[in-house]
Amino acid sequence: MNATKYIIEFSYLVASILFILGLKGMSHPESAKRGMHLAELGMLMAVVGTLLHHEIISYEWIIAGLLIGSTIGAAMAVWVPMTAMPQRTALSHAFGAFAAALVGVAEYYRQGAGMGQFKLTAIGFEVMLGALTTTGSLLAFAKLQGLVRGTPLTYRGQNVFNMALLAATIGCFVYLLIFPTSAPVFYTMLGLAFVFGLMLVMPIGAADMPVVMSLLNSYAGLAAAATGFALSNNVLIIAGTLDGFSGFILSILMCRAMNRSMTNVLFGAFGSAATAQGGAGEQGTMREVGLEDVAVQLAYANQVIFVPGYGMATAQAQHIVRELADILEKRGVSVKYAIHPVAGRMPGHMNVLLAEANVPYSSLYELEQINPEFSSTDVAVVIGANDVVNPDARDNPQSPIAGMPILEVDRARSVVVLKRGKGKGFAGIENPLFFKPVTGMLYGDAKESLTKLVQAVQHA
Ligand code: NAP
Repeated sequence: MNATKYIIEFSYLVASILFILGLKGMSHPESAKRGMHLAELGMLMAVVGTLLHHEIISYEWIIAGLLIGSTIGAAMAVWVPMTAMPQRTALSHAFGAFAAALVGVAEYYRQGAGMGQFKLTAIGFEVMLGALTTTGSLLAFAKLQGLVRGTPLTYRGQNVFNMALLAATIGCFVYLLIFPTSAPVFYTMLGLAFVFGLMLVMPIGAADMPVVMSLLNSYAGLAAAATGFALSNNVLIIAGTLDGFSGFILSILMCRAMNRSMTNVLFGAFGSAATAQGGAGEQGTMREVGLEDVAVQLAYANQVIFVPGYGMATAQAQHIVRELADILEKRGVSVKYAIHPVAGRMPGHMNVLLAEANVPYSSLYELEQINPEFSSTDVAVVIGANDVVNPDARDNPQSPIAGMPILEVDRARSVVVLKRGKGKGFAGIENPLFFKPVTGMLYGDAKESLTKLVQAVQHA
């Protein structure tokens, strides 16, 4: 090995260590920012190391790519709002996976059958996973952005058709391993994988998309690892494997927090009319409460728990929640935030928003920590949350969300629900919490209601 090669391998080793430390940092909200910076540094090391490679003939195209990519990345980071983060991530996965698929195609085009069985296997995986992740992620992006209908698109025999498509794609792959020169089969496999990506995501509802995306992320990671094997590139193998497995673990954790199986997410068409059956129907009338009443309740409470959900994210109400909490705390009220693992539309959604509003991490409580506290809480304020506080998950075995762990706000002495109207949550089912005697509904956009509450509490 000459000196440059040593330097490249060393930079890859450092990059891999930084990626691992970065992942470790991201496992806790307090160290997440540091973890992100370590991972960024790792990526810089990997890019710089790669640029030293002796096989690079000309730097012009690379520089052009770097400039275009960095401009797009920076623009997305600055302008994409926090609520659109899931679709932004989907787009990034699509780009990454497409790059992996293109590398695979280029390698096959350049070397064809001459590349040997091992490399061909790696390329086959890379192209298959890369292609299906590209179209799957693009469709996920379109659903989340509302460019196509977010509801599951289903038809009879869908699962059988999808399985047949997958079998045909894998069939091409196996054929190719036996007859490596068969370029038409290679390109058929590529085409089928593109179609399979679309078919895989079609029956999945927009709200299940975060689970699917983290699964697609895992596929993109494995495609990158396969690219690493194809190109004999260590950092790609390590980073791809880390990406692949962390994405997979995250998907499992999300499913667990919803008490759903991966098969149910992938094939259950959750959110379609058929799955919305089984929830509780209308259960009496909802009691509307006035702003002044709520302000007095809050101002004279000993303990208040804020329960944020998807509605807080859409209303961008996190800053005003913090303002209200500050005012209450100055009056001697103990304020806590209850964080459900799948509140919102992506893992850690509430943590990110509340951190953005500088809510101290010590005020955030996880489900297991906060549930025992509700019974000794004067007011639980539900801010645009619905499914994660639905007592049916605990009380009604027939409910589509039966068994999903919930924040037991109904055990509080008083519950105030901030929502715009009678809109359902992501599961599309009725919520008996809204009909309970302890519950008062404060209708309106969460940000507007909270702004008015801030003023009313100051005068209470
Ligand atoms: P949710 O069940 O989707 O309910 C959100 C509620 O917010 C709605 O009932 C809506 O009612 C209200 N809302 C919307 N915009 C509002 C606004 N501007 N102001 C006030 N209220 C507003 O939310 P959640 O309780 O956070 O539950 C999350 C759901 O997503 C769970 O079912 C979870 O399984 C699912 N999910 C989450 C993830 C994740 O990673 N976080 C992943 C996959 C699935 P109105 O229309 O009446 O206002």
